[in-house]
Amino acid sequence: MFPNKKGLPKFIASVLIITFVINIITYFVSQTNYQKIDYSEFLTMLNNKKIDSVEINSDRLVITPKSEDGTSPTDKKLYYTGYLNDPQLVDKLYNAGVKFATPVSSTQSPIIGFVVSWILPFVLFYLFGGLLLKSLGKKMGGGAMSFGKSNAKVYVEKTTGVLFKDVAGQEEAKESLKEIVDFLHSPERYTKIGAKLPKGALLVGPPGTGKTLLAKAVAGEAKVPFFSLSGSGFVEMFVGVGASRVRDLFAQAEKQAPCIIFIDEIDAIGKSREGNISGNDEREQTLNQLLAEMDGFDSSKGVVILAATNRPEVLDKALLRPGRFDRRVIVDKPDLKGREDILKVHSKEIIMDENVNLKEIALATAGAVGADLANMVNEAALRAVRMGRDKVRQDDLFEAVETIIAGKEKKDRLMTENEKRLVAFHEVGHALASALQKKTQPVHKITIVPRTMGALGYTMQMPEEERYLMNKDELLEQITVLLAGRAAEELVFNEITTGASNDIERATQLARQMITMYGMSEKFGMMGLESIQNRYLDGRPVQNCSDATSAEIDREVMNILNKSYEKAKDLLSANMDALGKISSHLIFKETIMGDEFMEILNSIQNKETVQV
Ligand code: ADP
Ligand code: MG
Ligand code: ZN
Repeated sequence: MFPNKKGLPKFIASVLIITFVINIITYFVSQTNYQKIDYSEFLTMLNNKKIDSVEINSDRLVITPKSEDGTSPTDKKLYYTGYLNDPQLVDKLYNAGVKFATPVSSTQSPIIGFVVSWILPFVLFYLFGGLLLKSLGKKMGGGAMSFGKSNAKVYVEKTTGVLFKDVAGQEEAKESLKEIVDFLHSPERYTKIGAKLPKGALLVGPPGTGKTLLAKAVAGEAKVPFFSLSGSGFVEMFVGVGASRVRDLFAQAEKQAPCIIFIDEIDAIGKSREGNISGNDEREQTLNQLLAEMDGFDSSKGVVILAATNRPEVLDKALLRPGRFDRRVIVDKPDLKGREDILKVHSKEIIMDENVNLKEIALATAGAVGADLANMVNEAALRAVRMGRDKVRQDDLFEAVETIIAGKEKKDRLMTENEKRLVAFHEVGHALASALQKKTQPVHKITIVPRTMGALGYTMQMPEEERYLMNKDELLEQITVLLAGRAAEELVFNEITTGASNDIERATQLARQMITMYGMSEKFGMMGLESIQNRYLDGRPVQNCSDATSAEIDREVMNILNKSYEKAKDLLSANMDALGKISSHLIFKETIMGDEFMEILNSIQNKETVQV
């Protein structure tokens, strides 16, 4: 890449200058070694036998004196004197025993001299200078060294090869991006009636939902080049580099219009400038440059800017005003249908057994995003290979789901007999509480095989259909299910363990949300006491109430939890027979599926009804 076509004249010029300077310096350096003397002085030196050798040139004599100790010539200081037409010179020199000669034109051809002093520098400069510049450039952030112009890390893909059909489950997002595709296809249709198209669209959503993929699909559908750069790729150590990258990016893109510029993770540069006392010059300059470029370019040429972020709330207001990223396309977590479609897209390349039911997998993966699902399909394929099969089966897929939720199975972890019993009763406690209540999700699987992510066993519930709303009773029953594990421990062993910490955390969170966000407590009614920040990331709740209210909320939460725990204990103590039998079965088999569980439960319940 060095020197590239554009840089070639510059390269030649700089090498010429350097070579020239070096030659001049050599000339002067060699000059300074000579001291001029008179001819008479020369004769005196000759008489005093102070001369070691003489070089007779046509216009001068170059004199090498003997060194102080009178033995060898010093090459440090030379004398010269003008050439006088002295016929006895040769005799005089000969008699004085001085070595003398006249320079013969060197046997070196002049071509070689030319090569050495003029061509060689080019070659050396090319070999070492290129390396030097490259390593310097790398250290100093890409373009900093390359003659003042930045080589922004711009990635152009002529064609992305991604189409809308590769993005599943984002129908609304695709719908709003179709217009942009159409615009890139035939801008005249829009400009003819005087419509201005949005310059930019902001893709907003949680990580892994397919924002980057969608942006590529827009370019792929429109068959235009795709310029992409990640927000953090702009910002470097040096102030001004980011801004020049933005300038470069837009300059390059405008040359290739129609095209798409995609800025991924734009929050890295687009963070709001307010409330930032320390400030960050580099980021601000980069942002300002971006704003200026967005205003400056003419969208009728067919350059569309897409950007993606999962923190829209931190973006600078200036970025979001009309004329910049005025369109917001939400790319949210996929629903049931969406998940099934995504699974289909990713299993196209994979050989699946014909009884694989992707809808069932979609049901079991509420809350998973596209990236998770793609990963699951691949994990399932890997498992099938590990098992020596040539097709992916449903149980591979389920195992992959569990691997991603709970980690890999740890078959070699040795639990004591007692621990195993305790975990089994705990899990069957959950399962029974779920089965004995009406509004809960059916049990899909119970296992006491430990997993790498910390669970010693777990009960997996699976909804029969995707739910978007939950009512208060359902939430309360769910809390009861969560607390039933601990309830079983207490009822059967009369001791409590650390195993319920995750259950407690989730139950508490649910109870708190009921009160502070869903308006489900009698005391506070419809008062909103918490709001969610960073909706697309961790979704941390932030309290907005007084300390006194906060203390009252805690009491209400405790109330709900206590009541639910009592209910769980009541449910289980009325079914101790089932609890014991199913737990023993689980200890024996380690994993039982939902239907097996229901069968045992039903047979026990039927017996009881017969007896009564
Ligand atoms: P984001 O940019 O939103 O964080 P990506 O677009 O990088 O997510 O998605 C990562 C990967 O996950 C994609 O390469 C793709 O394989 C898969 N993926 C994500 N969403 C979808 C989707 N809606 N349809 C198909 N595949 C998806
Ligand atoms: Mg992305
Ligand atoms: Zn539990």
